[in-house]
Amino acid sequence: MGDMPTETTLKPLHVLIAGAGIGGLSAAIALRQQGHQVDIFEQSKLSQETGAAIHLASNCNGLLRRMGLFAEDIGGVECTDVIEYLPHNGQLKYHIPAKKMGEKLWAHPWHLVHRAHLHTALREMALDPNGKGPAAKLHLASRVQKLDAANATITLDDGTEFQGDLLIGADGVHSRARACIPGGDLKAFDSGKSAFRFLIPTESLQGDPKTADVLKPSTLTMWIGEDRRVIMYPCINNTMMNFVCIHPSVESQADTGDEGMSCFWQPKEIAARIDTDFSSAGWQQTGSKDRMLTIYQNFNEAVRTIIEKAEDPKVWKLLDMNQMPSFVHERLALLGDAAHPFLPHQGQGGGQAIEDAVALGALLPLGTTRHDIPERLRLYNECRYERAHKIQDFTRTAGKDAGELAAEGKKLDMMEYQKYNFGHDAHDFATNKLRQSLNAQDPTARFRSPFGFGPSPGPRQPLGLNSSHSDVQSLRQVKPETSETISVRFKTSRTYLENLLPPGFAFTSPGTLAYASISCTTLDGMTWLGGGGYNHCGLYIHGVNYTKRDGSKIFGTYLAVLFENLADPIITGRDELGMPKLFCDISAQVQGNEASIALAWRGAQFGEIKVSGLSTPQPPPAAPAAPARRMPGPPPPPPEQGQFTYRYVPAVGQPGKTDAEYAVFIPTPKPTAEPETLTTTTASAKFEARDWQSLPTIHNIAKGLVELPIYSVEEAKVVRVQGVSDVSAAERIE
Ligand SMILES: Cc1cc2nc3c(=O)[nH]c(=O)nc-3n(C[C@H](O)[C@H](O)[C@H](O)COP(=O)(O)OP(=O)(O)OC[C@H]3O[C@@H](n4cnc5c(N)ncnc54)[C@H](O)[C@@H]3O)c2cc1C
Repeated sequence: MGDMPTETTLKPLHVLIAGAGIGGLSAAIALRQQGHQVDIFEQSKLSQETGAAIHLASNCNGLLRRMGLFAEDIGGVECTDVIEYLPHNGQLKYHIPAKKMGEKLWAHPWHLVHRAHLHTALREMALDPNGKGPAAKLHLASRVQKLDAANATITLDDGTEFQGDLLIGADGVHSRARACIPGGDLKAFDSGKSAFRFLIPTESLQGDPKTADVLKPSTLTMWIGEDRRVIMYPCINNTMMNFVCIHPSVESQADTGDEGMSCFWQPKEIAARIDTDFSSAGWQQTGSKDRMLTIYQNFNEAVRTIIEKAEDPKVWKLLDMNQMPSFVHERLALLGDAAHPFLPHQGQGGGQAIEDAVALGALLPLGTTRHDIPERLRLYNECRYERAHKIQDFTRTAGKDAGELAAEGKKLDMMEYQKYNFGHDAHDFATNKLRQSLNAQDPTARFRSPFGFGPSPGPRQPLGLNSSHSDVQSLRQVKPETSETISVRFKTSRTYLENLLPPGFAFTSPGTLAYASISCTTLDGMTWLGGGGYNHCGLYIHGVNYTKRDGSKIFGTYLAVLFENLADPIITGRDELGMPKLFCDISAQVQGNEASIALAWRGAQFGEIKVSGLSTPQPPPAAPAAPARRMPGPPPPPPEQGQFTYRYVPAVGQPGKTDAEYAVFIPTPKPTAEPETLTTTTASAKFEARDWQSLPTIHNIAKGLVELPIYSVEEAKVVRVQGVSDVSAAERIE
């Protein structure tokens, strides 16, 4: 088995990622964990990664947990409750026990984490030399200047060029990669709303009687007004409260100078500041507390007190963007904000970037070739395009003011949104998509029940769908497939055997004599069984023909029953070939010039065949000089062309009826190697019917074999050969 390809010999892809934000780092983790070689290029030095808290809702938290990142380990707080107060008087509007409700529905918790902590954890996981797969390489202060989707190359500002197999544009809301998608050179635009964001130590709010009452641990709290709202939630082990105060942009713009509101910075302007840390571009503009107080002057005292306590508030313009025509082109995939910038109203921006990243990883398992990439990216687009845009739309609606909703005749259905957002596993969805696509690409893929797990490995599909021809060949070289068959051909009663023939079959020769064989084969080195083997032993009726509807005939041997001592070939043979296979224990031995076969079921032996006096057959006598004159009588039967079986599948719930019932023909395969043969005429076959207790499921067959008369043994043989037919030539006759 030493030559078999293993995971470690499969060639990894070289993936180049532009942008080490939450999306880019998640993609690096997902892809390194698949075994790929990843380089990440980040324009900033990531020296002081910032941002306030962000949501890890059930849908993305599950993906992080699968990758090995647990939010509770980085100070994440599980969100247990959602409360809304009326903004002006502070009265309770509703209280939803989110955790209690969620536990009945969602597999994973909903956590609130500080963005910088999440970012750091993702970065560490991507670069960890001890993590699964090769550690990703992070190139800091490396701004991607140009991307070439056809060749998977990127050029940095300093002119350095890198080539890979796949490019990922994870360069955020002001993405450059976006322009590489035909028709995709879109710019994010002002949604009309901005957000102040700041953190306040929980202690400070707890210690203040004006705010203590509204402070509930692990709770997302909202005050939603006509066109402005305040959202508060905890992070960092409940020690910090995070605030997002969304309001009309026009009301805060005055506080931010030209520099201040540079969230629309274009790359040129960013380039001018390359010496500084750019990760915070657009996210770190200082807001004015006074302006904030004015904006929220009509909110209740608790909110105003909170605003008073805000230190170093930031203001951040909420950007939206039209839909990209596609997230992919050639060897480039966009993800996260580069593909679909999110408004913050549902806390799904980071989550959708993580979903994108994980979907990409699932679609690109180790073994994916450079050639496969454009098709895999097409699948990525299929997995992500509709979902990301639908959640974007829900988010837009969730952020609308009551007046806007009324004017547009829209209704907020947060439960419906949550069901859609949370009820998806991007990894499983993409994995399934890939499987369906691979199955569809191979029209020869064979399925059996249970079909939901994809094509079934079997004799005619060794090692499964993704195995290459060379995998099979190398296993065969290490251990060739061999067979050793002990058979006894005997003269018997045609009238008895006729009982065993299904409709359409008849004996070719007249008379009451017929020929049948008990034949037992020991197979070894079978590729589809990982080099193992098994035994089968059957009753074959010779000299049979099948008459087709057009009156033509096929001549062959009919397989009446086939015992096997392994479930797998029984299942594949019954399902794929319609063979009458059943289980029993079979032992077959050849020793010197003797051979024996024993058939039993759980210790109850019901068949014994013995062969002795085996010797190498003499070469046939030289052909007579003149053809012998044929004796008077019927002409000899035509030569047998192959083997018949009869597929019989009972109908579910309808005793005596069938779902499928038809004759199958397997043409005799051409011999691949010269067999080694021993022959004799000394043999015996003895069967015992036993009772139904000792042979509960096959006593009817044992009884039938007992009743089968053996008038005389014609020939017994032992035949050894290398190379075993996979019987793939079997076909339904009509
Ligand atoms: C500093 C910062 C603070 C944030 N704060 C919050 C917050 O408080 N709350 C919230 O909900 N969301 C916040 N976000 C947004 C949120 O993290 C993202 O919307 C979301 O996670 C999507 O992630 P992303 O990886 O697609 O984009 P981002 O997280 O924006 O990451 C994009 C990355 O690409 C880099 N980049 C851009 N252009 C280039 C280039 N040409 N070459 C190389 N690198 C490039 C950027 O420096 C950045 O690191 C913040 C984002 C940033 C960058």
